[in-house]
Amino acid sequence: MSAKVIDGKAIAKKVRSEVAVAVAKMKEEHDYVPGLATVLVGDNTASTTYVRNKHKACQEAGIRSIGREIPADISQDDLLAIVRELNDDPTVDGILVQLPLPKHIDDEVILGAIDLAKDVDGFHPLNIGRLAMKGRDPQFIPCTPYGCMRLLKEMDVDLNGAEAVVLGRSNIVGLPMGMLLQKANATVTICHSRTKDMVEHLKRADVVIAAVGITEMVTGDMLKPGAVVIDVGINRKDDPSKKRGYRLVGDVDYDSCAEVAGAITPVPGGVGPMTIAMLVQNTLEAAEHKLSQS
Ligand code: NDP
Repeated sequence: MSAKVIDGKAIAKKVRSEVAVAVAKMKEEHDYVPGLATVLVGDNTASTTYVRNKHKACQEAGIRSIGREIPADISQDDLLAIVRELNDDPTVDGILVQLPLPKHIDDEVILGAIDLAKDVDGFHPLNIGRLAMKGRDPQFIPCTPYGCMRLLKEMDVDLNGAEAVVLGRSNIVGLPMGMLLQKANATVTICHSRTKDMVEHLKRADVVIAAVGITEMVTGDMLKPGAVVIDVGINRKDDPSKKRGYRLVGDVDYDSCAEVAGAITPVPGGVGPMTIAMLVQNTLEAAEHKLSQS
């Protein structure tokens, strides 16, 4: 079997253009343009690139973006003061504090200080709590799992009663992913570093979400034929043929899994572009919510 390729780049483009249309309409009808504020602490190269790409995506969708770049030695109190200032700024609809934060800062304190109505990353404990509860909806869904759900929707994957296996249980990917799949009526198993026999779980999975951060850990022989495979992982693999000496690969061994799966996301070009597209979508939703309350 040769799997269908789930083109995250194309789907993300579709999401971003839908947002651009809605933003233009908002400008016309309400004379209002949504605004996203990013907070980047320190000069981590990957974080700097992620934040730059987020600003670019906002710009393309017609969303105003404001970047706060802060030295790595900022105190927790001073960072809190910046978050509160952005909470009070009526031109800011969404606040994104880029993770990871320096070790001396408690990210739970910082993320918990973001105004719930501006928590476009969806990491506020109340948002996560609502996601976990039956019959409740979070104000925002964390961008990467939200993007994975959109990919499944675009591929018409029927989650009702499906066996879904999520590899990884982090607060930003694995945990909310499992909760979203459960809300969509899948039967969910979450595997982690202490799981005794991951392959036994994978073998029965109709849908696999891999978010562990281990290069090409999932191979084709572990999958149920026809499974839908969403690869969240972004790992560097040595590749002397590349100028930079490495290439990006996922948590899934693409070639062997594409032989067995029904559909699969590539890395790059799968989940990555969706994360940014859903941030732009969440910022629009924040502005829409604000306007509906005024
Ligand atoms: P974390 O390191 O926070 O979490 C990794 C998870 O994998 C943990 O729950 C861990 O278990 C589990 N794990 C580790 N080893 C194994 C193993 N051998 N078998 C099964 N589970 C294991 O990572 P993140 O969730 O932040 O990110 C995961 C990957 O996704 C990374 O490659 C990251 O770069 C990528 N990513 C991609 C994004 C995108 O936009 N495409 C966005 C965010 C992340 P335990 O809890 O027991 O330690």
